[in-house]
Amino acid sequence: MKAIAEVQKPLHVFEQLESEVRSYCRSFPAVFTKASGYRLWDRAGNEYIDFFAGAGALNYGHNNPRIKKKLLEYLQNDGIAHSLDMATEAKENLLQTLHDVILKPRGLNYKVMFPGPTGTNAVESALKLARKVTGRETIVSFTNGFHGMTIGSLAITGNRMKRNGAGLPLTNAIAMPFDNYMGDGVDTTEYIDRLLEDDGSGVSLPAAMILETVQGEGGINVAGFPWLKKIEALCRKHDILLIVDDIQVGCGRTGPFFSFEPAGIQPDIVCLSKSIGGYGLPLALTLFKPELDIWGPGEHNGTFRGNNLGFVAASEAFSYWKDDQLAKDVKAKGEVVHAFLQQLVSSYPYLKGEARGRGLMQGISVGVDGLADKICSEAFKRGLIMETSGAKSEVMKVMPPLTIDAEGLQKGLSILEESIKACQ
Ligand SMILES: *Cc1c(COP(=O)(O)O)cnc(C)c1O
Repeated sequence: MKAIAEVQKPLHVFEQLESEVRSYCRSFPAVFTKASGYRLWDRAGNEYIDFFAGAGALNYGHNNPRIKKKLLEYLQNDGIAHSLDMATEAKENLLQTLHDVILKPRGLNYKVMFPGPTGTNAVESALKLARKVTGRETIVSFTNGFHGMTIGSLAITGNRMKRNGAGLPLTNAIAMPFDNYMGDGVDTTEYIDRLLEDDGSGVSLPAAMILETVQGEGGINVAGFPWLKKIEALCRKHDILLIVDDIQVGCGRTGPFFSFEPAGIQPDIVCLSKSIGGYGLPLALTLFKPELDIWGPGEHNGTFRGNNLGFVAASEAFSYWKDDQLAKDVKAKGEVVHAFLQQLVSSYPYLKGEARGRGLMQGISVGVDGLADKICSEAFKRGLIMETSGAKSEVMKVMPPLTIDAEGLQKGLSILEESIKACQ
C-alpha cells in the first residue's frame, strides 16, 4: 500500500476559515471527494478503507445503491423534502415500515416521536419525557457514557474534557459505575441498588437510568446481558424508567437491530439516530411505551423533524431487516474481526492490549498512553480510516459498514497489523 500523506494538497481553507473546534479533519487530513460502500477517495485519487463508517451513521455503506435509488426517484418526482411534522406519504411509509418490519416482529410496542434531526435531540426528548412522567429530576447515567453535546445530554456524559465545554454546572444527573467499572467480581448493580433503597444515601430517587449496551465513545465497554437484566430489574423495583441510548450501537451495529434484544430486556424509552436511514441524512427517533405518551400537542417541537429524505432512506434501510440475513452476517464478520484483534493482542504484547466488542463494534484497548492514536495515524497513511475512543483515546475502534465484504475486511485488518508493526 502506498504512503498517502505526502501527495495531499494542504487543508489551507479549513485551517484558515474553520474554527479550531474541528476534529476529524485533523485525524484524517485529506479532502475527500467520493465514496462508495466501504471505500472513500480523496481529491488526489487515493483510496481509503472505511473502518469508521461515519461514527456509526453509515451502517449500510456510503451511497448504498438500494437507498440511493429510492432517494433519486423521490427527488426526481418532486417529493416533499421538508414538512415540519405534517403528514407526508414518506413519513407514513417510515412509520408503517418501522412498525411492520422492526417493532412488531420483536414484540415491541412503542409510540414514535420525531424529536429533531440529531442524536442529542432524541436524548434530550427522552430525558424531558422521563422527568415529565415521573415528576422527578435526577437522571442516573453511567461512567464513560456518551449521550451528546447539548446541555442535558452533556450532564449525563462521562468525558471530563467534553463536560468542561459546557461552561456552566451540569446538574440533575448522577453517574453510577457501568458493568466491570470496578473490576472483575464486583457487581455494580448491588452498589446502585443499595444507594437507591437507602433513605440516607444522599441520592434522590431518579426519573430514569440511561445507558448504552456497548459504550461507543466511552471505549467499547460491553455490558454483560446479566448486568443489563439486573439494571432492568432495579428500574422496575424502584419504579424508575429505563432509557437505552441505541444511537450508535442500534440499527444492527452489534448484530440484531436493537442492541438490547439478546439481553431480553424491554426499555421504556429507546433513542435512535445515526444509522436509521444509514445514508448520512440526519434523522432521530425517540421510541417509548404508549402509556408514557403524555405529551401535549406541540409541547416538544423543532423545524427539522420532517426530513423526508431521511424517511425515504430509512424505509428502504429497514427492508434489510425483513429476514435475519444481515444480523447473521454481522455476527459472523464480528467473530472474524474479534479473532483477528485477539491474535494482534497476543502477537504484539507491547500494545498491552485487550480486544473488546460485540458484533461489528470491536476494538483494542491499548495500555500505552498515546499509542492508539499513533497507530491510527499510521493506518491513515496506509489508506485505512479508524478512530480512537475512550477517555484517553486509548481504544482503536474497528467499525466498518455492516455490508463490508470479506475482502475489504481482510484488507483493512492487514493495514491495521502493518500499522501496529510500524509503531513497534
Ligand atoms: C453520537 C451519539 C449521540 C449524539 O448524537 P448526535 O447526532 O451527535 O447529537 C448520542 N448518544 C450516542 C450513544 C452516540 O453515539
